[in-house]
Amino acid sequence: MVQHKHPLLDKTIQILSDLVAFDGLGGESNLPILGYIKKYLDEQDVPYTLIPNAEGNKASLHARIGPAADGGLVLSGHMDVVPVKGQDWHTDPFVLTEKEGLLYARGSCDMKGFLACCLAMVPFFKEKDLQTPIYLAFSYDEEVGCLAGEELAYAIMTSYVEKPKYAIIGEPSMMQPIVGHKGIIIYKTTVHGSAGHSSRIKQEVSAIHTAAKLILWLEEKMMSLTETDDRFVPNHTSIHVGMVNGGIAPNVIADKCTFFWDVRQIPETNLEALLNEYFDYAKKLEAELRTKFAGTAIVHEMDHPNVTPLDTAADAPIIALLSQINERQDLGTVAYAAEAGQFSEAGFSTIICGPGDIAQAHRANEFVSVEQLNNCVVMLDKLGELFEKQ
Ligand SMILES: [Zn+2]
Repeated sequence: MVQHKHPLLDKTIQILSDLVAFDGLGGESNLPILGYIKKYLDEQDVPYTLIPNAEGNKASLHARIGPAADGGLVLSGHMDVVPVKGQDWHTDPFVLTEKEGLLYARGSCDMKGFLACCLAMVPFFKEKDLQTPIYLAFSYDEEVGCLAGEELAYAIMTSYVEKPKYAIIGEPSMMQPIVGHKGIIIYKTTVHGSAGHSSRIKQEVSAIHTAAKLILWLEEKMMSLTETDDRFVPNHTSIHVGMVNGGIAPNVIADKCTFFWDVRQIPETNLEALLNEYFDYAKKLEAELRTKFAGTAIVHEMDHPNVTPLDTAADAPIIALLSQINERQDLGTVAYAAEAGQFSEAGFSTIICGPGDIAQAHRANEFVSVEQLNNCVVMLDKLGELFEKQ
């Protein structure tokens, strides 16, 4: 049993059981779950703004509760979940099932539990005479690379007359304030060379041989980086090539080779400089090879948008604020990338703090404990109390 059960805990669990019934994955349409949230906010008389994607089959949502005053706080989470396919679930992943204080379902922990807490608190926030506003910011496609977070963060920062200040991203952290995560960027490089008999390798431009040079350059670059940050495991920026594709036969020079590579960046690494150095090297290589084959081309495409690292200082405003409303004060960092870096980049003093353990996320029999949900609701209650006064 949960000690000091919050009056809105049952409502939170009810909303969570509604939310987990929507099985929308990252990459799929989120309109069904969005429809539920819109209806709920309509019933509470809370106006909201949608940011649809180009195809119109997905949208983020943001809303303000309280006055158009500066210094507000954003509560942010994603509506999508990861697949259950091939996982050994003991219960229906889309039916919230309680066993001994644990609530099982896909997304219960990552991160519909946090969304449920926020939604359950809406009537409470509305009742308060808030002096400072609280915003809701719900995104889609987080699980396939934080695709909507950047646009959502900038929309909230720029589309209201007032200037919001703080953001809490409710990723599962056992309600620990998380001040750092690594960034990630993924690129696809394609080399176009000339085809020919393998005996002519000195006369032709092999796309595979050229790709190999680029790949080795990336590895050597990583090995030459000296900056470290012991808050992260591993404590360095990594550069990794995960997929290579090229060639049609052992005796044919490949005229095309493609490889995918990612940079998982600690905040200390200058990503822009690193990328530019690589692009410059590729340009030089391309110019050299064009003397042999004029059609040589090395093309780079971003495979998904940059997720900037989170690096919130210990004296940041959000930490002072959180210390007034949250029980846990021990600051931590995490290995996963999240939308927090994007909110930070957009100008919010940002932290990750949410119910549940990331160890339960993305696996079979994912759960969030009732106690964790209660702790989160208690934090949001204190936020409402605080913003009623200041
Ligand atoms: Zn998540």
